[in-house]
Amino acid sequence: MALSEFDLIRVFFADLGAARPDVLLGVGDDCALLRVPAGRDLAVSIDTLVCGTHFLACDDPESLGHKALAVNLSDLAAMGAEPAWATLALTLPEVDAGWLAAFSRGFSNLARRYGISLVGGDTTRGPLSITIQVHGFVEPGMALRRGGARPGDLIYVSGELGDAALALLSQGGVPVALEALPGVLDRLHRPEPRLDLSARVRGIATACIDVSDGLGADLGHICESSGCSALIRSGSLPLSQAVRDYISATGDWGVALSGGDDYELCLTVPPECREVLESAVAGLSVGLRWIGTVEEGAGVRCLMPDGRVSQVTGRGYDHFC
Ligand code: ADP
Ligand code: MG
Repeated sequence: MALSEFDLIRVFFADLGAARPDVLLGVGDDCALLRVPAGRDLAVSIDTLVCGTHFLACDDPESLGHKALAVNLSDLAAMGAEPAWATLALTLPEVDAGWLAAFSRGFSNLARRYGISLVGGDTTRGPLSITIQVHGFVEPGMALRRGGARPGDLIYVSGELGDAALALLSQGGVPVALEALPGVLDRLHRPEPRLDLSARVRGIATACIDVSDGLGADLGHICESSGCSALIRSGSLPLSQAVRDYISATGDWGVALSGGDDYELCLTVPPECREVLESAVAGLSVGLRWIGTVEEGAGVRCLMPDGRVSQVTGRGYDHFC
């Protein structure tokens, strides 16, 4: 039996994610009614995934539900905000109940893990596209903006860089060692928002961004907003064995320096806060690695293994170039 738009919303998108007392009214009315806790600021971010640009029609819908929410939560993490609510605008070419069930399961499992409630959205017919807006809270003055880095600050990055870019290359036919492939593909299709890390570095980091367009591009945004430059060391970059093997075979540092989709956090701290930072993040499952230093000037440079310093030009993905 064909599902109507309203059945579809009721079956797949009512009561998704965590139940929260600050949701006075969720899915079903003209608006959601939400209560921001007194004395906290609201952080809001939105991201769209378009079929053919950000993912393929044949991609696993459960992973897609996870990723569409994860990339948004990554923005809240980068801002130092604690996640609360999400809305979902879904454009579908047709109603495919199996696809919708898997998509909403992927979304809901991640939402529950981080206590997020889906409070509303919009459902339309057209080329497949997924837009999610997330809302979180942050103490006044505590948001991790891009513009606070100062010369002398240390630059850190979480997790490992380049796996997602390697996964994309492997989908295009570049061979990746078979035993490494599942892990690498997972990093592309099921990124983990670094919210736990973000909560620990709030109040310590001077600037923060999530690496969605590549380290060069995103650290470049910190430099531009902060009015300074960055010098990083290729030898300090946290890389998986698969990425190391790929770089030794090809000499292509682009996966680590300009590859996008890793959703790790890149942040800066004053040198005197180094020990405070390292003890604040001790015990987390994700690591944090010191990769370089903020300097006067502009742009991102990298000390390469041959001793030369290269300008990292990774401009990230530009939808209109
Ligand atoms: P309206 O015509 O007033 O815009 P809709 O028919 O678009 O209302 O939506 C009805 C209700 O279902 C609203 O509460 C809306 O927020 C919710 N909704 C619609 N689509 C989705 C979706 N994909 N996910 C979550 N909630 C949705
Ligand atoms: Mg509507």
